[in-house]
Amino acid sequence: MHQIDKVYINGEFVTPKGSALFDLYNPATGAVNGQVRLANRDDAQKAIAAAKAAFQAFSQSSKETRLALLQRLYDAVVARADDITAAVVEEYGGPVSMMSQWTTMAAQNFLDMADTLESYDFTQKIRASDVVMTPIGVVGIVIPWNSNVGFITSRLATAIAAGCCTVIKPSEMSALQTQVLCECLHAAGLPNGVFNVVTGTGIEVGAEIARSPDVAKISFTGSTAVGKDILRASADTMKRVTLELGGKSPTIILDDADLDAAVPLILAAGFLNSGQACIAGTRVLVAREKHDELAQKLVAAMNDIVVAEPTDPASRIGPMVSRKQYERVQGYIIKGIEEGADLLAGGPGHPEGLGGYFVRPTLFGNVDNAMTIARDEIFGPVLCLIPYEDEEQAITIANDTDYGLAAYVMSSDPARAGRVAERIDAGRICINGFQHEPQAPFGGFKQSGIGRQYGVHGLESHLEPKVIMGR
Ligand code: NAD
Repeated sequence: MHQIDKVYINGEFVTPKGSALFDLYNPATGAVNGQVRLANRDDAQKAIAAAKAAFQAFSQSSKETRLALLQRLYDAVVARADDITAAVVEEYGGPVSMMSQWTTMAAQNFLDMADTLESYDFTQKIRASDVVMTPIGVVGIVIPWNSNVGFITSRLATAIAAGCCTVIKPSEMSALQTQVLCECLHAAGLPNGVFNVVTGTGIEVGAEIARSPDVAKISFTGSTAVGKDILRASADTMKRVTLELGGKSPTIILDDADLDAAVPLILAAGFLNSGQACIAGTRVLVAREKHDELAQKLVAAMNDIVVAEPTDPASRIGPMVSRKQYERVQGYIIKGIEEGADLLAGGPGHPEGLGGYFVRPTLFGNVDNAMTIARDEIFGPVLCLIPYEDEEQAITIANDTDYGLAAYVMSSDPARAGRVAERIDAGRICINGFQHEPQAPFGGFKQSGIGRQYGVHGLESHLEPKVIMGR
């Protein structure tokens, strides 16, 4: 049984003032495997005060100092990569083959931001004026459970590059992996107060960060509903916000696409992170005359997807993170059947031989884009196959959503796919693949968020331009 009873404030692991206990579960079995003692408002305030005090000196630190810290953070995470992966697999249920790659990517976030920082000029000239890009202040980092380690490293890397100090509030469901990661970050030897980690509930700790006048910016990743609460709470103190929210991304299969090549990409995009991914391509748009052929190929390929214990190296889809998430996905599968979509694979209940929070990877065919399963973010391995009449209608359906985070376009003619991509309202569009560019801006259109992470766009969202004239 894991007992996590410390938070990290001002360079030390300390016992929180909060005394509420939260049970941790192994999602592969549903059994309790630990407890975390949650931080409360007082702990949040202490963490904010520590970050505010540290900001005085850290905001003045040189580029060389920050580059050295980013390198030390990278080294410290790499040194314990296996421990981090083991904690994520046990606590979150992500398949080990994928989670070990994600730990590597999480460490890499520090080096990617160091690359950005190295070539960034904090003083720019506009005619005779100096535009000095100035660290914004204390940054509140509020994040979800679906990629806890990667979110902490990427958001912290950006804040450090900018010269900002941070208060990080992970999900209470990520306490174990947060503890291991905190030990790594501590080993990197940052100045006290530059990062503080207070695991607690959103209503208690998250809301305190959003309300505090001493927090200049919130970098939030999570649901659109909570993102709206954060935006409202931030208005009173005019906080800057970066909001990375939900998605319902389209995968558009143009009528000239090679279906055999498209199938693995559709499944990779749709079932990424066991379907618990903001960028999952969950609405698969296909020309009506190709619908049945693609459906058959997808069902055949889904039979080969290994759904198994996350510790099994062959596993490609693990359990949902929690009972709540399991029930949410079950509810949507039942809703899809009730609304009249064709259930082509999967369905309600557990996969054979598995319990815990495992769900059956599910494919619905002949889905209408107005159905609930095509509109709501399900956050599980449930795909909707939506027929369209022509390219124009495919674009209309793709854009007929409240979200706009990612999109995927497949075609044997990349130039044609590029023309379609330009008409899709989404922050990131991949053509014939599942590409990633860590220096390119990442974020959403419409209700998928505000602002961008990564690279220069992410860095500048932590800086205020100050114009000095006449010197
Ligand atoms: P969530 O919105 O419920 O919680 C996210 C974080 O906000 C948690 O730490 C939570 O404790 C905190 N929180 C909750 N209420 C709060 C409040 N009133 N004030 C301040 N903080 C509060 O999201 P979740 O269920 O943990 O994660 C899944 C969601 O995250 C999905 O919608 C997914 O699409 C989204 N997500 C988006 C991205 C992206 O980059 N766009 C990436 C990953 C996940």
